[in-house]
Amino acid sequence: MEKIKSLKKTFPEICIENISAAALTTYKTGGNISLAAFPKSEVEVLNILKEIKSLDVKFYILGAGSNVLISDKGFDGVLIVTDKIDKIEFSGLKIKAESGFLWDKLCEESCVRGFAGLEKTSYIPGSVGGAVRMNAGAFGQETFDCLDYFEALELETLRKVKIEKKNINYGYRFVEAVEKYFIISACFSFNKGDSKGLNLTRNEIITKRKEKQPLDYPSAGSVFKRPPGDYASRLIDSCGLKGLRIGGAKVSEKHAGFVINYENAAASDIYALIQKVKKEVFEKTGIMLCEEQIFLGEF
Ligand SMILES: Cc1cc2nc3c(=O)[nH]c(=O)nc-3n(C[C@H](O)[C@H](O)[C@H](O)COP(=O)(O)OP(=O)(O)OC[C@H]3O[C@@H](n4cnc5c(N)ncnc54)[C@H](O)[C@@H]3O)c2cc1C
Repeated sequence: MEKIKSLKKTFPEICIENISAAALTTYKTGGNISLAAFPKSEVEVLNILKEIKSLDVKFYILGAGSNVLISDKGFDGVLIVTDKIDKIEFSGLKIKAESGFLWDKLCEESCVRGFAGLEKTSYIPGSVGGAVRMNAGAFGQETFDCLDYFEALELETLRKVKIEKKNINYGYRFVEAVEKYFIISACFSFNKGDSKGLNLTRNEIITKRKEKQPLDYPSAGSVFKRPPGDYASRLIDSCGLKGLRIGGAKVSEKHAGFVINYENAAASDIYALIQKVKKEVFEKTGIMLCEEQIFLGEF
C-alpha cells in the first residue's frame, strides 16, 4: 500500500486510487483496482514504468477492457490504461495510430479515405493496442492483415523497439511473445479501395453485428476461440447451453458464444459459467474449447 501511495504522490495528475474494475471493462464487473494510471504519452508511460520497476509493484496494461475479466478480488497493483494515448497520423495509404486510439474509429477513418483491408473488422470495441495484442479480427479479416509494424517499450529493459510484422510469429487470435511489450503505436498499410464500397461493407457489418450479438448486455464478445473446422457458438448451442445461468451471468440466447452480464453478475459468476460451458461441451462433444478472453486476478 505504501508503494501505491508513493506512485500516486509522484504522478498525481494521471493516477486514480481505488477504482472499480466495472468502470474499466466491458463486462462491467470485478473488484477494486488499487491504482489506475492514465498516461497521455509515451514519455509518461516510460516514467511510470520506471517508477513501477524501481518500487517493484505489480502492473497490468489495459486498453478498452473489452477482452478482460477482472476478479472480484480486484488487482492489488497498477493498471496502466491506454485510452489517453490516442493520436493518429495519415500518410499515403498508411495509418499510424497510438495504442489507445479506438479500433472502430481507425476502421471508420480507413473506410472514409478509401483504404481497404480492415473494413470487416469494424465495430470491434477495443483499442489499437488491444487489437494488435490479440490479433483481433472478424469476417475473414484480422489486424495483422494490414499491420506493418508496432512500436513498443520492451517491458524488461524499457527500451523502445520497433517490431516489424515479418519478424513476429502470429496466427488466429495469437501473437507470439507479445506480452513482453507495452505497445505504444502501430502502423498499418492498406490497399487502394473505393470509399463508397468500403463504407457500405462497414455499415453492413455493423448492422449484422447489431442483429446477431447481444449488445444490450455487458460482455467481452466471444468467450472462446473457434475450434478447428467449427464454431464455438454452434457447439455450445448444440449442447443445449443457451440461456444457462450461474448467478447473474448467462449464456446469451442471441449468440451462444457470448457470456453476458445479465443481472449484476459477479466476475466469479461469469468465470464459473465459462468453466461450466467448457466442461459440458467437452463431455458432450469431446472438444475442449479454448478461451480467447483474459482473466486477471484470482478466480
Ligand atoms: C461486443 C464485443 C464484440 C467483440 N467482437 C470481437 C470480434 O469480432 N473479434 C475479436 O477479435 N474480438 C472481439 N471482441 C473482443 C475485444 O474487443 C478484442 O479482443 C479487442 O481487440 C481487445 O482490445 P482492448 O483494447 O479492449 O484490449 P483489453 O481488453 O484492454 O486487453 C486485452 C489484452 O491486450 C493487452 N493490451 C491492451 N493494450 C495493450 C498495449 N497497448 N500494449 C500491450 N498490451 C496491451 C492487455 O494487457 C490484455 O492482455 C469483442 C468484444 C466485445 C465486448
